[in-house]
Amino acid sequence: MKINIFILFLIFWFNVALAQEKTYTYSDGPYITEVDNSLEIQWVEKGILKDSTVLKSEASWFSKPGLPIVNLNDLSFKPDESTSFEGVKEFVAISDIHGQYDLFIELLKSHKVIDQENKWNFGKGHLVIVGDVFDRGDKVTETLWFLFNLEKEALSSGGKVHLLLGNHEVMVMHDDVGYIHKKYRYTSGISQKPYFKFFSKKTILGHWLRSKNICVSINDVAFVHGGFSKKVIDKENDLSKINRFFKDEILSNNNIMKGDPGLLPLLYFENGPLWYRGYANPDGFDEEKAIYILEKLGKKTIVIGHTSMPRIVSNYQNKIILIDSSIKFGKTGEILYYNEGEFFRGLLDGSKINLENKPKKDGIKTAFQYVYDLGDQNLRIDLILDYGLLIKNKLSDDYLPGKMIAIHNEEKNREWEVKIATRGNTRRQVCNIPPLKIDLQKPNLKILGFAKNDKLKIVLPCDKSKSFVENTMKEHLIYQMYQLIDSLSFRTRIIKVGIINAKDNKIKYDLDALMIEDVDDITFRSGAAEIKEGFTGIDALDRESYLKLVFFQYLILNCDWSLGTRHNMKLIKLEGADKLRALPYDFDYAGLVGQNYAVPPAKFPIESVLTPYFMGFHVKQSEIELMLTYFNNIEKELIETIENSAYYLSEKSRNKFKKRLESFYKTLRNKKGWKRNFMHR
Ligand code: ZN
Repeated sequence: MKINIFILFLIFWFNVALAQEKTYTYSDGPYITEVDNSLEIQWVEKGILKDSTVLKSEASWFSKPGLPIVNLNDLSFKPDESTSFEGVKEFVAISDIHGQYDLFIELLKSHKVIDQENKWNFGKGHLVIVGDVFDRGDKVTETLWFLFNLEKEALSSGGKVHLLLGNHEVMVMHDDVGYIHKKYRYTSGISQKPYFKFFSKKTILGHWLRSKNICVSINDVAFVHGGFSKKVIDKENDLSKINRFFKDEILSNNNIMKGDPGLLPLLYFENGPLWYRGYANPDGFDEEKAIYILEKLGKKTIVIGHTSMPRIVSNYQNKIILIDSSIKFGKTGEILYYNEGEFFRGLLDGSKINLENKPKKDGIKTAFQYVYDLGDQNLRIDLILDYGLLIKNKLSDDYLPGKMIAIHNEEKNREWEVKIATRGNTRRQVCNIPPLKIDLQKPNLKILGFAKNDKLKIVLPCDKSKSFVENTMKEHLIYQMYQLIDSLSFRTRIIKVGIINAKDNKIKYDLDALMIEDVDDITFRSGAAEIKEGFTGIDALDRESYLKLVFFQYLILNCDWSLGTRHNMKLIKLEGADKLRALPYDFDYAGLVGQNYAVPPAKFPIESVLTPYFMGFHVKQSEIELMLTYFNNIEKELIETIENSAYYLSEKSRNKFKKRLESFYKTLRNKKGWKRNFMHR
């Protein structure tokens, strides 16, 4: 069955590839297979498949532009036989590289593990790769050949590279290629060969990978990709035996069933060492359990990867160290550095921070910042709670207990106990689906390595119908436009939210929603303080940012805000500033959003939110001139921001925004109308 689908895929692929021939310029390889006395080499050079066969006795170097250089004369390697190493003074560990070769190299260089020529520079030190070199990124082959060469250099200096297999290595070997980068689909398509066959036993890299361990111990530290669950450790606590099981049985067998007898299913599935996420889930795991597992292993520390963290995190005084520092996003990452019993976070700039020290504020992220860095539409959260009860008491501020499951790019990332409440003013009353506030629980955040800001705010569509979802996306665009005007304002991200009834485990809603920054996150990133009381009027505000704010609200046709009553408005004070800044939020009443429940305040002389009404107080002619210049300067960017919303907003809505922008500029540029439009209050 799999093969048939594969052939269909090939036919489809070739049609696509032929149609777009010129757009593919991938280079990939080399993939080398040993056949008797010769080497069969395949590679892709600027989109074109190449191959050559050379006699082993005549082989020299493989060297092609943009591809790893491989010494064809020295394709031998030493299989990993021991599982335990003692007396190692210095080591580094890194995990979940996921094809981000450049970032990986940069981290190794900045910590002098390799030199400027990418050669081993770490003497007798050890480098441990804690799994997941494969998938997601587009430089997997580069990473593999680099490590293939590096481990020889390390050995000859008395050091050692340990490449431990993660779940993604095993997935690829088992023909589970759902996460490979499209470049590798191209390689596979053009060579008419399923991707996993490039890593079959007969290939150099495939043979080499099959000689690798899944766990290792150095001094009193054990390393494994996912973790050792209690279930596994109660049945088998000998790491060398676990390695044998993987090498002899699991790597060559992709038909392991949950009901199979013996240890295999336990090692292979979710409680197994490559998939287990218990250590990264605060629920159900604690220091006592860590001590239990460590005692069974006879170790002091377990180092794991697998679950992406905002940084390297140490829990329970270095008993569990989680080192997947989210390198997979290709932006930043960390390396674990060990020196004679002490652990450090090694940062990209080469600096080292002792893991025992409390992380400084600037070294850690809030949970919102983490979601923000993922980009739009990459995160899904499922909330499991008694939703009926929440709705019944939707006007109450009380939190209900619930569970949150975070799913990043369709891969379940974390699950933990949270508290959930409704929030908002009007929406809470008029909407079938009110906005939510999630309390992430400070102790959990600490374990997960986040800053202590514990509130996540979610704006859901008022109802599940298409127009309400679209209106929510319009709000997102408004937040993005306001980011141009003031980067110190509320940021939003589009996420998917599933609401699941705890009683029957049925999905009640499955919606595109917004995650919106909390004011505490803004003060966290800016060092500002929120001013909750004591606002004495417009004069207390920074005048220019106030003007930008009122003109923007006019642009989006929003009258649903008030500084006096702090309605849909937060005030902050930046360090060293003597004036306050106002931050607007909740734009659902804006005419440009077009919610059917939005009406202007009774005291205003307008009948509909679609009628422009300027809310600025005592605005002078010179100030309007200042704003004219200011808005003229950002016109292009505003239009671009609207155009760039095509991936979440319909053309109709985008045109509506553009039309309103045009008419806003027309009013602003019509100096004769200034008095009537902007100086009436
Ligand atoms: Zn993993």
